[in-house]
Amino acid sequence: MPPKAEMSGAVDAPALMGRYDVVVVGAGILGAASAFHLKRNSPNRRVLLLDRFGAPGQGNTGRSNAMFRNTFTSNDNQILSDSTIECYLKVQSEGTDLGLQRIGYLWLMSNAQLSASEGALRLMDRNGIHTRRFARAEIEERMPGLRADLSSDGEAELMGLPDVDGGVFGPKCGRLDPDKLVRHYVREFTRIGGLTAFSTNVDRLLVGPSKRLGIDGEPFVWQESRVEGVQVSGAVNGAIGADAVVLACGAWGNQLLGPVGIDGHVGAKKRQLFSVSTKGSPPLGRLLHTKGFNDLGLPPLVVLPKAGVHFRPAAEEGDFWIGCEDEVNRPLINVPERSLEGYEAERSFYERSVSPVLSAYFPQFKSAAVKAMWAGLYSYNTLDYLPFVFRQGNLIAVGGDSGSGIMKGDSLGRIVDAVYREADEVSLYGGVQYDPSRIGFERRRVEREGWVI
Ligand SMILES: Cc1cc2nc3c(=O)[nH]c(=O)nc-3n(C[C@H](O)[C@H](O)[C@H](O)COP(=O)(O)OP(=O)(O)OC[C@H]3O[C@@H](n4cnc5c(N)ncnc54)[C@H](O)[C@@H]3O)c2cc1C
Repeated sequence: MPPKAEMSGAVDAPALMGRYDVVVVGAGILGAASAFHLKRNSPNRRVLLLDRFGAPGQGNTGRSNAMFRNTFTSNDNQILSDSTIECYLKVQSEGTDLGLQRIGYLWLMSNAQLSASEGALRLMDRNGIHTRRFARAEIEERMPGLRADLSSDGEAELMGLPDVDGGVFGPKCGRLDPDKLVRHYVREFTRIGGLTAFSTNVDRLLVGPSKRLGIDGEPFVWQESRVEGVQVSGAVNGAIGADAVVLACGAWGNQLLGPVGIDGHVGAKKRQLFSVSTKGSPPLGRLLHTKGFNDLGLPPLVVLPKAGVHFRPAAEEGDFWIGCEDEVNRPLINVPERSLEGYEAERSFYERSVSPVLSAYFPQFKSAAVKAMWAGLYSYNTLDYLPFVFRQGNLIAVGGDSGSGIMKGDSLGRIVDAVYREADEVSLYGGVQYDPSRIGFERRRVEREGWVI
């Protein structure tokens, strides 16, 4: 659920003015991980992390479903997420609680969907990502209340709901606490000397000539232009100079880039989550204690064969969180409102779009009332649904994570740092060597992601 800001926005404003080697705009997971890796690899550089909210992770990172997976169809998403998950698991194993629980992801599929997934599953195998195929009978045995055969259900036929013929299970998937995760990166960043300023809005990028001639109207088209810094307001006011600026603004990526004529390559779309309580419903309670998928005695995140409808346990509250794909007829937003409060979840969307699918497969959800609901924004790279890190002069932008950026946060942070250092190769966590240009725009070499939920 959306977190409440606790950190004070108070900063020592005069001390923060001046010049930086790098200013990172946006303290969601991508900005926080980028700032940390930038500072870690260039300890003598002055790095400043800014955000308009009063604390880190208050944007879409704090509104997410808080899940991670390495089960993707595209090679690059598999690599970026698998390495990131390894890193998060290591951090937690060393004593920093990130709220990680490996509950797994279970994709319930029809025969046609299972066949269509063969290629992706082979690729996962080659990338060392373990998955397990479940037969329909095995899933029925484990998942209380599942209706796998919908052939005699007229409503299901009307909605085009296929039978569940089997499933694919990803055991190295699960949930985490995005607030703890993002604070971990910010804490580590500041521990090694990084500086932060919250409640500080970047109003615009300051662009100037790389060699200033002192002529009114600079930069002219015949001069080389560069980003000189950022104009900020809020807890800190004025111009902050920077030798490099990293934009990790998520859904707001176009806001600063558009005015300086650079395409942010991001389309924002509203996404909603709904929580329902299992209290007072023994059948839902039984589902919340599904055994046989992990050693926590919890159900995995379950993806249904239609419209990406999915549910996952929030066992500490006795709830399920429910969401779905919401692609067509949901407008793309070029520049979202500053505050996410105006993007509200719609009860009728749950009741009329999500619940009929969910209740067809799991009838115990039929009478479940929505207890809480919230919305955030997916930042899509509409070209191929994979993230990007691109550079234009001394400006680097990271984003386009298309609804799965938290689970790739560490890898993307390392790639931002590699692009800053102009390195041809980056060592992702676990030692995987990766060429950052694969997810740039000049020499992009990725295939379109098929499993966006
Ligand atoms: C409903 C929903 C469910 C999701 N579920 C998952 C999930 O289960 N797993 C997963 O991995 N991902 C999930 N996502 C996607 C995930 O939230 C994003 O991939 C991730 O948060 C992206 O991180 P970010 O740092 O780019 O963006 P954000 O967290 O939005 O951070 C961007 C930051 O930039 C700041 N900013 C922007 N412009 C300015 C400016 N001009 N000045 C100062 N600050 C600025 C904002 O204040 C914000 O804090 C979900 C998203 C939604 C909406």
